[in-house]
Amino acid sequence: MRKPLIAGNWKLFKTIGEAVDMLNELKSLVSNNKEVEIVVAPVFTALSSVSAATAGSNIRLSAQDCYWEEEGAFTGEVSPKLLKDAGCSHVIIGHSERRQYFGETDLTVNKKTKAAIAAGLNAIVCVGESLAERESEQTFSVIETQIHGGLAGLSEKMFAQVIVAYEPVWAIGTGKTASEDQAQEVHIFIRQLLARLFGKSVADAVRILYGGSVKPENVKGLMGQPDIDGALVGGASLKADSFAAITNFKG
Ligand code: PEP
Repeated sequence: MRKPLIAGNWKLFKTIGEAVDMLNELKSLVSNNKEVEIVVAPVFTALSSVSAATAGSNIRLSAQDCYWEEEGAFTGEVSPKLLKDAGCSHVIIGHSERRQYFGETDLTVNKKTKAAIAAGLNAIVCVGESLAERESEQTFSVIETQIHGGLAGLSEKMFAQVIVAYEPVWAIGTGKTASEDQAQEVHIFIRQLLARLFGKSVADAVRILYGGSVKPENVKGLMGQPDIDGALVGGASLKADSFAAITNFKG
């Protein structure tokens, strides 16, 4: 059984104080939820403080990116080892905003994913097609390339620390959600591709999250799809009540 995972990507929002306040509010709203793994991803500067606030709760901490080297002359970068040190259990890698604005490629996604796993973090590896790619019927080939490149060389054992997030770029922050059928179609494609590349037991066990305008109103339908194992949530994760409602989708 794949335990559902709901992760909130807070992007470039919230001061340390705002992040801690939100965490404290969220904690009480989700404290009875034992069936879902709940993860929040604040900005780097808030990680330590939010980590302290998660103590004794069922909320886990993620960073939004990492570098692949452990340490060295790499001004401005943060390594997986330091994310662990700050209290992270997860790290988001290859988010479409990083691919679009910061030159992330499948090769850097691959290096970061391997480094995160080696440091003991769980890597949430994002893939997804743009609107132009969908409209020119390239969705599956784009996803295949991203999975091939981003996850190249991973062993079955390493996959215990990998979560894939399918995030169609046209659905991120736009209010346009992929329909349940559109999402399921890509999720099963990813699972079958993983089976071909890495074996059936990897494909059966790996969790594949959907991301793109997930809200309290649409989460239940998406989570009802057989190959959707959770959600990566942006905008609707910034308020404790809406994020809690998403994590409590089982009612
Ligand atoms: C995201 O940033 O990963 C995301 C899915 O954003 P939103 O939920 O706002 O579309």
